Amino acid sequence: MDVTAPTRLLDNYVGGAWTPATTDDALDVTNPATGETLARVPLSSSADLDAAVSAARAGLAEWRAVSTIARARKLFELRERLVARQEDLARSVTIEMGKTIADARAEVARMIEMVECACAIPTTMQGRVLEDVSRNIDAETIRQPVGVCAAIVPFNFPAMVPFWFLPFAIACGNTFVLKPSEQVPLTQHIAFEELHALELPAGVVNLVNGSREVVEGILDHPGIDAVSFVGSAPVARIVYERAAKAGKRVQALGGAKNHMVVMPDAVVEETVNGIIGSAFGAAGQRCMAGSVVVTVGEAHDRLMPTLVAATEGLSVGDGLQDATDVGPVISCTARDRIREWIDRGVSDGGTLAVDGRGADGPDGSSFVGPTIIDGVAADAAIVQEEVFGPVLTVVRADSLDDAIAIVNRSRFGNGTSIFTESGAAVRRYRHEVEAGMIGVNIGVAAPVAFFPFTGWKDSFLGDLHAHGPDAVDFYTRKKTVTSRYFSSGQGHGSYFVES
Ligand code: NAD
Repeated sequence: MDVTAPTRLLDNYVGGAWTPATTDDALDVTNPATGETLARVPLSSSADLDAAVSAARAGLAEWRAVSTIARARKLFELRERLVARQEDLARSVTIEMGKTIADARAEVARMIEMVECACAIPTTMQGRVLEDVSRNIDAETIRQPVGVCAAIVPFNFPAMVPFWFLPFAIACGNTFVLKPSEQVPLTQHIAFEELHALELPAGVVNLVNGSREVVEGILDHPGIDAVSFVGSAPVARIVYERAAKAGKRVQALGGAKNHMVVMPDAVVEETVNGIIGSAFGAAGQRCMAGSVVVTVGEAHDRLMPTLVAATEGLSVGDGLQDATDVGPVISCTARDRIREWIDRGVSDGGTLAVDGRGADGPDGSSFVGPTIIDGVAADAAIVQEEVFGPVLTVVRADSLDDAIAIVNRSRFGNGTSIFTESGAAVRRYRHEVEAGMIGVNIGVAAPVAFFPFTGWKDSFLGDLHAHGPDAVDFYTRKKTVTSRYFSSGQGHGSYFVES
């Protein structure tokens, strides 16, 4: 079904059925490449959230009683369904968020990879046993679901980021409430059409559209046991503190400022390709976007001519066009904020090597062209704060030590990359740098589904990270059993396998 129509008001998904929100408040969902209205998204009320949480609580016992392998089979089926819809999902990502269709396809592939990883739950959810911790006494740790889990997600990965959580949560036997970004609700609408087709018990997955009111409701709701958040740093902190105060398990992934260190021996062509993809892919709207290049010594003069020429060659436009390298940013508000950041970078002493402020499009669209600001001091605001647009700042360092000090000065610690052929430099860098995800000659070092997404410092608040093995830890509670028996065990019952 095509979910886009300018007057179409999206439904929530509650207790196994599409359900209208009980509110007249709604926002337009806009294609940032054209300014067209795609649909309307309701700003659900606390009553709508209550309904979803009640459905999730009611569904918990039935879902938990489904065997682990049967839950995994539902995920195998979901994987097939998403593969069949992957082009619909990718087009939806591009029209509501703006990234290029190639980038959107890659995002949907990652979304599906999350489901594939969660399919391994009969293995990954296993506990541990030690026989004879004392004479004839055994100890074992088993894992059980946490309960009702909620996720609050940002605009920049409409397909993938919700799936950092949903498949792992339900694989572990939890029920789930998703609050998509109100700026990009359409892609999850498609995903939930496929979840609906799985015929899961009512209440296993729920979707509540909305904004701040729904988020605050989630944080305080006594019926929710665990909260995952992905979004900007200030909101991540509010979410983390408020949900923890309410006694919930919480993980909050915040903003970022990711540095790419270029050593003098870096292979220029490949390094430029890595930097361009990292800085300008998704118009710089990735939490793993490289937004500061730190050149060490003569790397600056070796790198800059090729980097500037390649950046000037990028074509800006509608992400649905195959020729487009850089799509729009999410909204006109974001565009204006990013332009102001560029102005500020210049007034703080930077030189515009490439100026993207003049990029334009149809009325209501929101474009900023790729921009490079060179020669900025390492402590300038544009080096320290997240811009979240296609703006790359270049800072010079005298040595690897100097570069590491610049990177570690940041309050963020999501990702960083180093470009060099020196194993010794890499060894030092990865040992000393204060960031959680490291790329070596790779611009966007976002881990695949089977590894955790390990941001540090203000980029992550919590203990257990998203996806990979950490997801199973986050979505299960451990129970440790110490046992012994006094009879000989002869002649009791029979062993059978549940079908
Ligand atoms: P955002 O913080 O504005 O919104 C994220 C979610 O929080 C949305 O669902 C929104 O409805 C809700 N929200 C917004 N303001 C709120 C408030 N005051 N109170 C309660 N809820 C609120 O983030 P965004 O603009 O959608 O996404 C971009 C940000 O997300 C960037 O900072 C980016 O770095 C970050 N991000 C981080 C990661 C990561 O893994 N660390 C991944 C993707 C995006």
